[in-house]
Amino acid sequence: MKNHIKNTIILIILLIILYFAYQFYQENNFNDFVRKESDLYTAEFKRDNEVKYSNQRSYRIKTDEYNDAMFSKEINVNKNTPYKVTCMVKTNNVQTEEQKTGIGAQIAISDTTERSIALTGTNEWQKIELIFNSKDREKVEIGFRLGGYLGKAKGEVWFSDITIEEGIAEENTNWNFACFFFKNTNVTINQKEIKLTINSNDISTITDTIHRFETSTQELSNQKMKANCDIYEIETPITSLSYDNEFGYYVAPEDIEKQIKDIINQKDYDHIFAIVRLGDEEHQTDIKINDWIGLGSMDYYGIGFSNIRLPNDSKSYIYKYSRGINQFPEEVFLHEFLHSLERNAEEYGYQILALHDYEKYGYQNEAIYGQKKWYQDYMNKNIKSNDGNLGLPEEIYKLKPAKKSNFDYSYSLDYFKEPENIIEEIRELFNHIINNVRGIVKI
Ligand SMILES: [Zn+2]
Repeated sequence: MKNHIKNTIILIILLIILYFAYQFYQENNFNDFVRKESDLYTAEFKRDNEVKYSNQRSYRIKTDEYNDAMFSKEINVNKNTPYKVTCMVKTNNVQTEEQKTGIGAQIAISDTTERSIALTGTNEWQKIELIFNSKDREKVEIGFRLGGYLGKAKGEVWFSDITIEEGIAEENTNWNFACFFFKNTNVTINQKEIKLTINSNDISTITDTIHRFETSTQELSNQKMKANCDIYEIETPITSLSYDNEFGYYVAPEDIEKQIKDIINQKDYDHIFAIVRLGDEEHQTDIKINDWIGLGSMDYYGIGFSNIRLPNDSKSYIYKYSRGINQFPEEVFLHEFLHSLERNAEEYGYQILALHDYEKYGYQNEAIYGQKKWYQDYMNKNIKSNDGNLGLPEEIYKLKPAKKSNFDYSYSLDYFKEPENIIEEIRELFNHIINNVRGIVKI
């Protein structure tokens, strides 16, 4: 009899221990995800049973100090394939260390600038997505992140219902360009207020130039691509600029995301030109520019992004067609677009030729036509060298950024599938003990 009571008590104690162990496990189980942060042991990673979007516990990251924290998973991908990762996200008082879009609660590919929108402040549950093309990669690490590649954040964020789909890349060679005129720049640099405008004269000159760009890309590529340019005039001023030691001030995608995001979301664009004025006769040197008129190789959510800067001197012929003076005024547009193709070729694993190397191969910057001949041969892989012909590979014109329409006939992958019943959960449990023991890793 005595023994019987003793055994029952032991059994009850064991069950209680098991119950708490299971609770602890559920609260801390991050499945196959690795937890990472820039300042180790600063953030709290928990599975939340109270604030959740569906039946499953949500994944919560909380950090009181500025930090870059995420849980991530490396997945296998096919090369040259578009992917879409989505999740539900809720935030509480997310603040960023620097005033910059691009930092906050987001989905991101670790060690790259590829990311979804980044949420700050307090937001109810909403869906966010990361669309990317795997390009030359066979593995990518997908992170659910508070902070970001661009800087640190603090606050609280919950992620739930993570999905991933594989899409089908477009095969055509029609490129859609969004050309934005930012009519007003109102910035304060070194305590000095600077107001600049692009007037209707500038707009009509450059609109002609954009139409020349459409024709030239088709002609110079020997019909390998077609460009269609949509022009937008943006009234809302540019109020922040980015700075780089090499180039001075410029307009990064983050500086004008607010003004362009609705337009870009409506249409599947392949490239963006931001046409800006950063000086005029009155403000010649107030905004420091280190010798650039166009700036490229940037991207806005995977879409090529270039700056086209109006000259400070209103009499300049840089963008103006004039017989005997400038018969290739679309050069800056073409040059910056080619920088995006150059970057893309590299990211897709092609051996590439630097766009700036024209002199090395015997080409010149000519008075009336600039580097037109060089661009034509560059676009057609027609530059003679001892190693055969060099230039952009013909396939480059098909390799456009991943976009929403790539997922019209997509299929889902189960990389982020959660265990759905107790048997799956127990099976997973043994897998995850190993993972959880690994602990938190430094970014
Ligand atoms: Zn360049």
